[in-house]
Amino acid sequence: MELIFEKSVTGRRGVRAPQSDVPVKAEIPRQYRRAKDSKLPEVSELDAVRHFTTLSQRNFSVDTNFYPLGSCTMKYNPKFTESLARLPGFMDLHPLLPQLPHGEKLTQGALEVLYEMDQILCEITGMDAFTMQPLAGAHGELTGVMMMAAYHKSKGNKKKYIIIPDSAHGTNPASAAIAGYETISIPSNDQGGMDVDKLKEKLNDEVAGLMITCPSTLGIFNSEISEISEMVHAVDGIMYCDGANLNAVLGRCRPGDLGFDVMHINTHKTFTTTHGGGGPGAGPVGVTEKLLKFLPISRVMKRKSGAFYLDYNFADSIGYVASFYGNFALLLRAYAYILMLGKEGLIETSNHAVLNANYVMQRLKKYFLLRYDRICMHEAVFSAAWQAEKGVHATDIAKFLIDQGMHPPTVYFPLTVKESIMIEPTETESKQILDQFVDVMVQAAALAERHPETFKDLPKTTPITRPDEVKAARDLDTNYFLQRSIVAAGELNPLPSKI
Ligand SMILES: *Cc1c(COP(=O)(O)O)cnc(C)c1O
Repeated sequence: MELIFEKSVTGRRGVRAPQSDVPVKAEIPRQYRRAKDSKLPEVSELDAVRHFTTLSQRNFSVDTNFYPLGSCTMKYNPKFTESLARLPGFMDLHPLLPQLPHGEKLTQGALEVLYEMDQILCEITGMDAFTMQPLAGAHGELTGVMMMAAYHKSKGNKKKYIIIPDSAHGTNPASAAIAGYETISIPSNDQGGMDVDKLKEKLNDEVAGLMITCPSTLGIFNSEISEISEMVHAVDGIMYCDGANLNAVLGRCRPGDLGFDVMHINTHKTFTTTHGGGGPGAGPVGVTEKLLKFLPISRVMKRKSGAFYLDYNFADSIGYVASFYGNFALLLRAYAYILMLGKEGLIETSNHAVLNANYVMQRLKKYFLLRYDRICMHEAVFSAAWQAEKGVHATDIAKFLIDQGMHPPTVYFPLTVKESIMIEPTETESKQILDQFVDVMVQAAALAERHPETFKDLPKTTPITRPDEVKAARDLDTNYFLQRSIVAAGELNPLPSKI
């Protein structure tokens, strides 16, 4: 496909601005003016529309096909929430709108959304207050661990370690390390849960807290979680809940009631805000009374008069973690989604998410190894170990699915299951789609049995077929396309030879 720079024709325009009738009062000083032409592509409006529409069709999305990417909760994003987010009163709002004479901001509507969202999330999770600022789950983790550190500092505790089960998402140890802690990994037991005896061995007064995904990335609810909370609290540790899998327990159980002190929510997972290409996201963080005073500023508060305002006056706050209100447009979508479903709708959501995962699990367990054969929560984790004996690995099965028009499940995560294939169908898929997916997986298993060699050069239907993955990781040339566009704009020669 041509780059937009290659479509450029000198003098072609999409829009012609009228001659300005505003008198020029002052020239932009010479040192701030561009010396050379910017070499932007010169195209018509139609050229631009075709170019970007074609590009968008190369993108795989929930709007086009089934997307069972485990742990990511790729559910359908209802268009209703999109239209609300586009209301001019929200979309055109500037966060620096001035104060009214009596001190209220001109952003009352937006502040009300954030204030109510805080209350709703507290109701759903059993926490006491939320910050809406963090811009994704991982950012929420860091915010939570920073509050954990502030808590220990305020009590004069000397803490060094954060304990994390070995099935955790990689962002957990990363967040702990960025906040200055060393991590201790706890192995899983033969049921896929955290080994509580090993935890007991590792717990001591230097442990700042435990970060645990609940339910776990293996799609398993840890039935010992209340006991674990007590053990961690006994050494004055903080219980951190990675809430990425909240979809599985929505409306059924609340992390706050299980002993957690702090948690994050991924709105782009549980509450269907858009999610892809690494963002955009929102990762609200909730805390119980214990950590309340450490919440980031600003916080949205309500006066007796009913007016909302931003309060910066919290001496123990960890400070800002993002500018203004966080990713407001996403929080607004999540708010609309929650109100649309209501309490009953949220319970139905988790019911169907769990039912769908168990349906797929039961139908596939004859064909793929199920490491933990027990009722799962919102996702089912298989292994391609049987297929690997024939030389067909989880990644090969993923490529096969791409050719069948389906997004592959998450593969090679969690790390505790060899050749793992982690399937999260979500509640928004119908039985027909689930059956189609199962058929394709069964077909993959049959092909692996009889013709394992066919997998080697898949996928065949994509613009880029199978790259050399080692070369892509070790010898990556991220400048290739950039350089090509500069060449197209006539500045650089010659084209680099490698891709
Ligand atoms: C997605 C995920 C995260 C990270 O969240 P982001 O919003 O992608 O930063 C952390 N933990 C688990 C278990 C996840 O699935």
